[in-house]
Amino acid sequence: MFNPVKLIKSLWWEYLSYFVPEKMEYEITGECKKCGKCCNYMYSFDTYTEKEFKIMQFLYPAYKRFYIKGKDEFGNFIFACKYVTKEGLCSVYEKRLPMCKKYPMKKIPYPADLHEGCGFTVHKKKFSDYLKK
Ligand code: SF4
Ligand code: SF4
Repeated sequence: MFNPVKLIKSLWWEYLSYFVPEKMEYEITGECKKCGKCCNYMYSFDTYTEKEFKIMQFLYPAYKRFYIKGKDEFGNFIFACKYVTKEGLCSVYEKRLPMCKKYPMKKIPYPADLHEGCGFTVHKKKFSDYLKK
């Protein structure tokens, strides 16, 4: 049976759905414990093969500081920087790359994981958290 209240409610929710932000942001807070894990174990979103990595290094000579350290259980390359000391500190701190200065960003558009024991925390939000706003 036709229910006008139900229809109005549906239209109202449909209307509200246009105001749901499409881009989710995850906040990162905390401070660096200087463990050096992020300089010793890196992943790349752009590089999938050794050849592609060499091309990247050719195009961006600053990336020559990175080398392939191994592979994880899924076959993804793990990279490391040759400038990290045994103590986990940056030996070229004043000349580190912009990406190093920005790491970790204050907000990211995906629910990433940081290294175990890292002093920073990604505040992962569920969809229901956005509905509460
Ligand atoms: S993994 Fe986290 S705590 Fe360790 S050096 Fe990197 S940012 Fe700092
Ligand atoms: S340049 Fe320094 S901060 Fe950047 S990855 Fe290398 S050791 Fe880490």
